Amino acid sequence: MADTADGLGLEAQATIHVSGEWREAVSGATREVLDPADGLPFAVVAEGDEKDTDLAVAAARHAFDHGDWPRTPVTERAALLRRVADLLVRDREQLGLLESRDAGKTAEEGRVDIDCVADAFRYFGDLVAAESPGRIVDAGSPDIHSVVVHEPVGVCALITPWNYPLLQASWKIAPALAAGNTFVVKPSEITPLTTIALIDLLAEAGLPTGVAGLVTGPGHTVGARLAEHPDVDLVSFTGGLVSGTKVAQAAAPSVKKVALELGGKNPNVVFADACATDEDFDTAVDQALNAAFIHSGQVCSAGARLIVEESLRERFVAELARRAQKIRLGRGTEDGVECGPLVSEQQRAKVEAYVASALAEGAVLRAGGRRPEPSAERAAGGYFYEPTVLDQCHREMRVVREEVFGPVLTVETFRTEDEAVTLANDTEYGLAGGVWTTDGAKARRVAARLRHGTVWINDFHPYLPQAEWGGFGKSGVGRELGPAGLAEYRETKHVYQNLAPKPVRWFAG
Ligand code: NAD
Repeated sequence: MADTADGLGLEAQATIHVSGEWREAVSGATREVLDPADGLPFAVVAEGDEKDTDLAVAAARHAFDHGDWPRTPVTERAALLRRVADLLVRDREQLGLLESRDAGKTAEEGRVDIDCVADAFRYFGDLVAAESPGRIVDAGSPDIHSVVVHEPVGVCALITPWNYPLLQASWKIAPALAAGNTFVVKPSEITPLTTIALIDLLAEAGLPTGVAGLVTGPGHTVGARLAEHPDVDLVSFTGGLVSGTKVAQAAAPSVKKVALELGGKNPNVVFADACATDEDFDTAVDQALNAAFIHSGQVCSAGARLIVEESLRERFVAELARRAQKIRLGRGTEDGVECGPLVSEQQRAKVEAYVASALAEGAVLRAGGRRPEPSAERAAGGYFYEPTVLDQCHREMRVVREEVFGPVLTVETFRTEDEAVTLANDTEYGLAGGVWTTDGAKARRVAARLRHGTVWINDFHPYLPQAEWGGFGKSGVGRELGPAGLAEYRETKHVYQNLAPKPVRWFAG
């Protein structure tokens, strides 16, 4: 599989991993992986379907039921995760470039992603290594020994999106392995390459054969089969609301555990006091720009809704629009490029439709709103779209309510703190939000009232592997990262031992 890990051959690669072997699809079907910067194929992978999925699940089931991994001492599992982190650091440059090319992000973003992937493996290794093996419960009698222990769930199906392909996979694979599970991962069909490469690193680190499976292929076949499969014990899905709902429905008949990390429509609330000095103004604008446009806005936690105090609006939006127009678009591996293309033609068409609907509903275009002219940095076939600022927006507009997942920032205004909170919470999602103010008490009041899984005060976007990540409302079910992100992959068992059993005599006869 090393060739496909390099990602640069147009010969079809065997990219389905079952029982430690790389295979072609049972059907023989293949799929071209396109470079979003020019729309041209740069790798060809196996296009798996339900048959390949069944084979991979059977192998993971066998490895769980009969293999050593679930019973491997925690210290050994932790050591393996740390070795994986070291290998990721070793291959950072190559993997970062591959992620950049596959997902259309800048090379630097690709490298940072790989650092974060390594951090996730290290964090979950350290977390399990530091745990005590069980919690003794006081049963109120010296004759009773009662302990609560954690065990792996079993076979985990891990389904991931295209925007942070390896990062999202690592938030599932690292805790799943730390807890002693086996798994089958299904990367997005648009961006499978770094996840394929990771499987080889897991083997190099010493993961026993059969513990890790991978099926490349589409959601409606491979993903749907994983979600419904009776031999899968847990499905953890990151992606859009529509697919996530289907996953939950498919998983219901077999009552498997379901974890969903879905979309967001994330507010960035800016109070006028946050911009009292020129320096503070520059910081708030700069961060609002970053919140909305990093990775061309294809970020679940993108600060796509700017909610700014009315008195500050004109100055803030003018500066934001001026800077948005200066963002350098191009192929992510080119020097000086600040934003890459969107991931696919389909994604760009979706963004264009949202902008058109916003303008029809009365939004005022302050920047972008079109494809850039092709240039030396931007091939005509690339899926580029200019960072777009839409002023005069309101919550009845589709572009404000729905997740665009592209470089589109909407602007709404408020006059009072109450109004700001009401607007920020007026979304069916609840993934993340930011609040900008130099008034500490106000910051904490607003943060306490925001119905979002992550709240940033005077910042936007950072996350920590040791802090839970996930959403309120339709942003999902469950949490990734942190101790709760490990707990997702565990069953809890209470073992109650009577050291001096006697008859109960409830029944007299
Ligand atoms: P998507 O829902 O189209 O696809 C996600 C994955 O699900 C892919 O692997 C896809 O093949 C698979 N899939 C599609 N239909 C399926 C089905 N019926 N059954 C099983 N699997 C199916 O999402 P996307 O376009 O790849 O990613 C973008 C979305 O992901 C956005 O909504 C974004 O907000 C969300 N996301 C959320 C987080 C988070 O942490 N909450 C992180 C990253 C991305």
